[in-house]
Amino acid sequence: MSSETTPQDFIRAIVSADVAAGKNGGKVVTRFPPEPNGYLHIGHAKAICLNFGIAQQFNGTCHLRFDDTNPVKEDDEYIDAIRADVRWLGFDWGENEFFASDYFEQLYQWALQLIDAGKAYVDDSSGDEIRAMRGTLTEPGVDSPYRQRSIEENRNLFIRMRNGEFADGAKVLRAKIDMASPNINLRDPVMYRILHSRHHRCGDKWCIYPMYDFAHGQSDSIEGITHSICTLEFADHRPLYDWFIAQLGIFAPRQYEFARLNLGYTVMSKRKLQQLVGEHHVDGWDDPRLPTLVGMRRRGYPAAAIRRFCERIGVGKSASWIDYSVLEDCVREELNASAPRAMCVLNPLKVVLTDYPADKVEMIDIPVHPQREEMGRRQIPFGREFFIERDDFMEDPPKKYFRLAPGREVRLRYGYTVKCDEVVRDAHGNIIELRCSHDPDTLGKPPQGRKVKGIVHWVSCAHAVPARVRLYDRLFVSENPGGAGDYRDDLNPESLQIIATAMVEQALTQAQPGVAYQFERLGYFCADSTTSATAPVFNRTVTLRDSWQKTQQESKKS
Ligand code: ATP
Ligand code: MG
Repeated sequence: MSSETTPQDFIRAIVSADVAAGKNGGKVVTRFPPEPNGYLHIGHAKAICLNFGIAQQFNGTCHLRFDDTNPVKEDDEYIDAIRADVRWLGFDWGENEFFASDYFEQLYQWALQLIDAGKAYVDDSSGDEIRAMRGTLTEPGVDSPYRQRSIEENRNLFIRMRNGEFADGAKVLRAKIDMASPNINLRDPVMYRILHSRHHRCGDKWCIYPMYDFAHGQSDSIEGITHSICTLEFADHRPLYDWFIAQLGIFAPRQYEFARLNLGYTVMSKRKLQQLVGEHHVDGWDDPRLPTLVGMRRRGYPAAAIRRFCERIGVGKSASWIDYSVLEDCVREELNASAPRAMCVLNPLKVVLTDYPADKVEMIDIPVHPQREEMGRRQIPFGREFFIERDDFMEDPPKKYFRLAPGREVRLRYGYTVKCDEVVRDAHGNIIELRCSHDPDTLGKPPQGRKVKGIVHWVSCAHAVPARVRLYDRLFVSENPGGAGDYRDDLNPESLQIIATAMVEQALTQAQPGVAYQFERLGYFCADSTTSATAPVFNRTVTLRDSWQKTQQESKKS
C-alpha cells in the first residue's frame, strides 16, 4: 500500500502509536463482531473495512466473531450469508472464526466468580419492575429488594437457573454496581436472563443466556483483541465492560468508538430490514434496492466500489449523513474503468436501411472497453434492419436536438452515418418504423466534409434478443425515512420500473449475474440472479451520471 492510499483516521493514529510504543508486544488484533440476526449492510461494510483494513495495515489479524447471545433471533442462514459477504468484500479471517456461544461455559464460570465476590445477585423482580427501579437520566435508581441476598443464596439460585428450575423471566442475574451511578448502564445491569429457547449452535444445552453487555467485552478479552472498535452508541457501555474485566482480572482490550454510517434515502436497522423483507415491500434480502451487501452485489455494485466508498467517507467521531450519490459515484468510477461495453435498446424503434442489401451482415470489430485495449476486442453484427431507442428520434425536433429526425443524419455507435428519409406509421398514426439510407464511407468514423453531432446506440434486429430490464430508483422518497412518522410511509412507489421491451446483443445472454456492463449511453447494468440465456433479465446498477440530484432540485423548484 502506498502512503497516498493508506487511509488516515484517529483510530489508525492510535493503533500506529500503540505499535510504535510496543504495546501488546506490537501486536494488533481486531475483530468484526456481527450478531447473526440478519444480513450485512453497507454500514457493516464500514466496520469490516475498518477492522480488516487495520489488521492488514499493521500486520495484525482480524477475527470474525459471531455475537450469538440471543437464541431467539439468530439463525444459521445468516451465518453463511455473513461469511459470504465478508469474503466477497475481499477480506479473509483465516482460522480466526469465533462464536460468543463458544464462551458460554467460561462466561457462566465468570458469573459465579462475580457472585462469590459479592458483585452479582439474583433478582426476582419482573422486567417492568427492574425498569421502574432503574431511575432516569436525572434521578438515581433504587435498590431492588433482592439486592442484599447472601452470596450463598445467589450461588444456589443461579445454579438452579442454569438447571432449568425456573420459567422464562422469573429471575435474572444482575451485576451489583451502583444504583445511583450517573451512567445508567452501571445501575446493576442484567447479566443473565432465563430463556428456554433452542440455540442455533448449542441446542438445548442452555436455558440461561448472557446479555450482550456481559458477553461482548469478555469475548474480546478471551480472543486477545487489542483494539476493540465499535460504534459511538457503545461509548456509554465502555465503563461497564471495563468494570467486568477489572473485577475478573482478565486481559483488558481497549475500546474505541467511531461514528456509524448513516446513508440518505435508505434504512439500515436490522429490525426495519427484516420488516421490509417480511412484509414483502421488497423481494428478499437481496433485493437490489436494499442497502444489504447481497442486494448491492445482485445490483452489480463491485466490491471494490464499496471499499472505495468506505475509504472515501473516512472514520470519524461525529455522527453524519452521507449522501447516496457518494456511493453511486464510487460505483461509477469503478465501473467506468472496469466494465465491458455492450449495446441494449430499452424502447426499440425499428430502422430499415433501404440502400443496404437484405442478406448482408457485417461483423464490426470493436474494443471491449474504449480506453483499455488489454480487455480485448469483440465483433458485433450489423445488418439492414436494426433498432434504435425511440427517444433518439423526434419528428419535430427542437433546435438543439442532435439525434435522428426526418431529413437529418446521425452516427450509429461504431457503425455508419445514416439519414432518415421516411417515417412509417400504423393505422393509428403511431410511428412504427424509419426508412433510412447510409453513407458507406463512414463505418466507425465521422463523415467527410460535414459535421454530424449525434451518436446513437443500436442492435441488429436479426441478432437481438428480447430482455427484461429493471430500472431501480431510491427505495424511499425522503432522505431520513420515518423522520416524520412510520418509515414505511416514505417508501418510494416508483422504486422499481420494469422494462419488458428491451433488446440486447446476443452476447449478453451469456452475462454472469452481478457482473456489470456499460450499456452504451444508458448506464451500467448487470444480469440479475434470475437471468437465463433464453429469458435474460438485467438490473440497472447505476446511471451514467447523477441525474437524480438534478431532478430533485427541479421538482423542489416547481
Ligand atoms: P442493529 O441494527 O440490530 O442495531 P447492528 O447493526 O448493530 O444491529 P451488529 O451485527 O451488532 O448489528 O453489527 C456488527 C458490527 O457492525 C458492530 O460492531 C457495529 O458497530 C457495526 N455496525 C453496524 N451498523 C453500522 C453502521 N451503520 N456503521 C458502521 N458500523 C456499523
Ligand atoms: Mg448491534
